Amino acid sequence: MSDIIHLLPDSVANQIAAGEVITRPASVLKELVENSIDAGATEIKILVRSAGRELIQVSDNGHGMSETDARMSFERHSTSKINDASDLFSLRTLGFRGEALASIAAVAQIELRTRRQNDEIGTMIEIAGSRVFSQISVQCEKGTIFQVKNLFFNLPARRRFLKSDNVENNHLLQEFFRIALVYPQIEFEFYDNKTLVYQLISANTKGRIEAIFGKSQKRKWEQQLLSIQTNSTLVNIYGYIGKPEFAQRTANQYFFVNGRYMRHPYFHRAVMMAYDRLLQPNENPNYFIYFEIDPESIDINVHPTKTEIKFENETAIFSILSAAAKEALGKFQVAPPIDFDTEGAPTFPVRQAKNFSDIRPPQVNFNPQYNPFDSNNTYKRNADNWEKLYSGLQTLEKSSENIDITEKLFEENILHDIENKKDTDFFQLKNRFIALGIHSGLLLIEQHRAHIRILFDKIIAQITENQIYSQQLMFPEEISFSPATLLSFSDMQPELEKAGFIFSKLNNNTFIINALPAILNISSAENLLAEMIDEQNNLPQKSVDKLRENIALSIASSAAIKVGQTLSSTEMADLAKRLFLCANNAYSPDGKVITNIIYYEEIEKIFW
Ligand code: ADP
Ligand code: MG
Repeated sequence: MSDIIHLLPDSVANQIAAGEVITRPASVLKELVENSIDAGATEIKILVRSAGRELIQVSDNGHGMSETDARMSFERHSTSKINDASDLFSLRTLGFRGEALASIAAVAQIELRTRRQNDEIGTMIEIAGSRVFSQISVQCEKGTIFQVKNLFFNLPARRRFLKSDNVENNHLLQEFFRIALVYPQIEFEFYDNKTLVYQLISANTKGRIEAIFGKSQKRKWEQQLLSIQTNSTLVNIYGYIGKPEFAQRTANQYFFVNGRYMRHPYFHRAVMMAYDRLLQPNENPNYFIYFEIDPESIDINVHPTKTEIKFENETAIFSILSAAAKEALGKFQVAPPIDFDTEGAPTFPVRQAKNFSDIRPPQVNFNPQYNPFDSNNTYKRNADNWEKLYSGLQTLEKSSENIDITEKLFEENILHDIENKKDTDFFQLKNRFIALGIHSGLLLIEQHRAHIRILFDKIIAQITENQIYSQQLMFPEEISFSPATLLSFSDMQPELEKAGFIFSKLNNNTFIINALPAILNISSAENLLAEMIDEQNNLPQKSVDKLRENIALSIASSAAIKVGQTLSSTEMADLAKRLFLCANNAYSPDGKVITNIIYYEEIEKIFW
C-alpha cells in the first residue's frame, strides 16, 4: 500500500487556522486595528457595514508596507515583529504570530492599499480565499487601508453561525473599546455605514473613558471616576474605579495588562472585595484597571483569541489590587482634608448597605500597624513586604462572611418550613409585609418585591422558551415616537414582541398597540412603554440580555401586587411558597431586599 500522509495545501491550513483566530467580524476588527497600532499609527478609522458581514475597513496613518512586504504579509507565519523564540519574552507589540492576515485572507475577500512615507507610489493587492487576484501600483495616502469584504463568503456554515446584527455590532464595539481604552492618545473614528458613531480625539485615559461611556450620561461620568494607583517592584497598577453610588446592573469592567485587554475573574474578585458592603446586591461597579508588569512574569504565549492571562504572582497581586481599590474608595469617603501625617489605625470605611438590617454587630479586625497614609515607611510599597503590608486587610474581609441574606435564607431551609404551615399562620403588616413565624425566628417578606421576583422569573422563562402569551386590547392604542425614541423602540421591538406585545405600523413614527403581555392587567400601555424606552436609553451597554431583563422587570413591576394592597391568608401563603421556589428569593431583580429573618436571639434581647 502507498503512504497516506501528506502536507495540507496552504489554503486549507489557513482556513483551519482561521477557524481559531477569526470567529466573527469582531475578530477581524481586532486583528486589523492591532496591526495599525503596531505600525505606529496615530489616527485609525474604522468603518463597518452590516455588522461587519459585508465590510470591515480599517485605515491608518502608520508606516505602511513595501510592495514585497505587502504580498508577504498574507503568508502564514509571516511577521515583522519577532525574529526568534527569545523575542517572545520581551514582546511589546500586539501581534507576533503572523497568522492573522493569512487567516483573514483564507475566509474573506481583501483589498489592501498601502504606501510607505518615502515611497512615491503605493501597492494594492486583491486576495480572496487565499488566492491573489491582482497586485498593482496605485496612488494612495501614506499608511494602510484594509478592506475585508464578505467574511466567510466561502464558508456558508460559518456565516450562518453569526448572530443577529445587534449581537455582532455589540462584539465589534466591545473589541473597539478594548483597544481604544488602552491607546487614548491615538485618534479613532468608528463609522457604522455612513454614521460616525464614535469620534475619539487624542486624550488621557480618563478623557478616553468619558468619551466612550459618558456619551449618554455625561454629567455622571465626570463625577464618578476615582483614580487608583499603586507601584511596586512586582506590578504597577493604575486606572479608575467608579464610586459605589454609580454602580449599575450592567457595568463596564475592564482589566488591561501591558496594553492588552484581559479577563481575570480572580482579580475581579479582588476589586469586588474592596466594594464589600458598599453595593446593593446585583449592582456592579465600573472599573478600568491597567496593570504594567514585567512581560516575563505573565504567560503571553496564549491563544490569540483567549483573553485569560496567567500571572506568576497572582495571590500577591490580588492583595495589592484589593488594597489599592480600597484606598481609592476610602479616599473620597474620608472627610476632607486627609491628613497624611496622621499616625494610627487605618480608616477603611465599612458602610452599611441601605436596606440591610444587619443583626450581628459588625466585627472589624484590622492591623493597627498598617497605615496607608504613613509616608515614611510601608507606603513606599516595599514589594518584598507586600504580605505584611496587606495582611490586616485580609482579616477584615473574613468578618463579613455571615452578613449575606441569601446565605441566611439558604441555611434555614425555609421552603420546607413554609410547606408545613397553615394559611392562617401568615399575617400581614402595614399592608406591605407578610410575616410568618419559622423555627429560627420571624420571617418577613415584602409583598410587592416578592411578586416582582416571581413574575420576572416567569417572564424570562417564557421568553427564553419562546412561549408568547398575549392579551388582545379591547381598544387598540396609537403610540407616536420622536426620532430619538423611535430608534430605541426599533431596537426593542423584537424583544417586546417576544414578551407578548403585538404592534402594527401605522406610518413612519406611529404604531398601533394591538395586544399586551397577558400577565399585564392594564388597559393602556403608553406610559409603561415610554418608561421602558427611557430605561433603555439610559443603558450604556445595550446587550440583548439586558434589554430582555429590563423589559421583563418593567412588566413584572407593573403587574405585581402593590404596596398597600390587603391580602387574604391564602394569597399570602401562595405568594410565600412561590417566592421560595425562585432561585433568588432574597433580592428582587433590581437588587432590593425581598426577605429577611429576625432571629429569636434578637427578639429575646428586646426582653432582657
Ligand atoms: P502579526 O501582526 O502577528 O505580525 P499579521 O498577519 O497580523 O501578523 O500581519 C503580518 C505582517 O503584516 C505584520 O507583521 C506587519 O509587518 C504587516 N502589517 C500588517 N498590517 C499592517 C499595517 N496596518 N501597517 C503596516 N504593516 C502591517
Ligand atoms: Mg497582527
